[in-house]
Amino acid sequence: MKIKVLGSSGAEFPKSHLSSFLIDDKILLDAGSITDVLSEKDQMKIKSIFVTHAHLDHIKGIPFLADNILIGKKKRRVDIFSIVPVIKAIKESLLNDVLWPDFTKIPRGLGSILRLNKLKPGEPVKIEGYCVIAFKVNHAVPAVGYLVETPKKKRLFYSGDTGPTDRTWEEIAVKIDCLILDVTFPNKMESEAKRTGHLTPGLLRKELSRIRTMPERIYITHAKPQYSKTIASELKRLKINHLRLLQGRESIEL
Ligand SMILES: [Zn+2]
Ligand SMILES: [Zn+2]
Repeated sequence: MKIKVLGSSGAEFPKSHLSSFLIDDKILLDAGSITDVLSEKDQMKIKSIFVTHAHLDHIKGIPFLADNILIGKKKRRVDIFSIVPVIKAIKESLLNDVLWPDFTKIPRGLGSILRLNKLKPGEPVKIEGYCVIAFKVNHAVPAVGYLVETPKKKRLFYSGDTGPTDRTWEEIAVKIDCLILDVTFPNKMESEAKRTGHLTPGLLRKELSRIRTMPERIYITHAKPQYSKTIASELKRLKINHLRLLQGRESIEL
């Protein structure tokens, strides 16, 4: 599995792109950045998008990708997967023919560019040889993280945006090889983090102590660029091996 980080930032600036993780050029975990990062050719390789939650910084790329498929006259369909409240929000608040055209109906009929697929937490989906399972996480709105398992049972878990939780780690109950986890705020903003469903380095340490087997690799995502220096030094002080803050565009092999 090759994971390209298209964006891992908790806010958008010219060199800080929003959450998007591209697996083997075809499967996207979150869609904060697509068209601002990928060439047209690479955009057209995307087949499926798994969305963690409906916040704009995780779905912003979807409408612009659909538009590029239409204008490029490409015969492509992109499948969007998520839990029911997220699919409902995308349909009713984004692709509602007010904020953006409804690309689940354009072009008309079977050939529509976007298809929305509802997932149940805990139910595996087979896609491109991988098994993908959604697990509920704590955030300000309904949200899931995704466990992606290779045929050789290597496992990635991408949390999306998440605050402190016991349940998720109990429910996953298998060894995670590679964990991508939210740390949005520095330690001094712990109450803000808890209120908005995010982690600080201190809250991260408590979270990791709840995981039965420590993941071999831990990558931190969604830091606010305004606080990233403080967050990086607070993460360093945790002295956890194989843990680091993602730095924008990079690739992870699993
Ligand atoms: Zn969010
Ligand atoms: Zn976010």
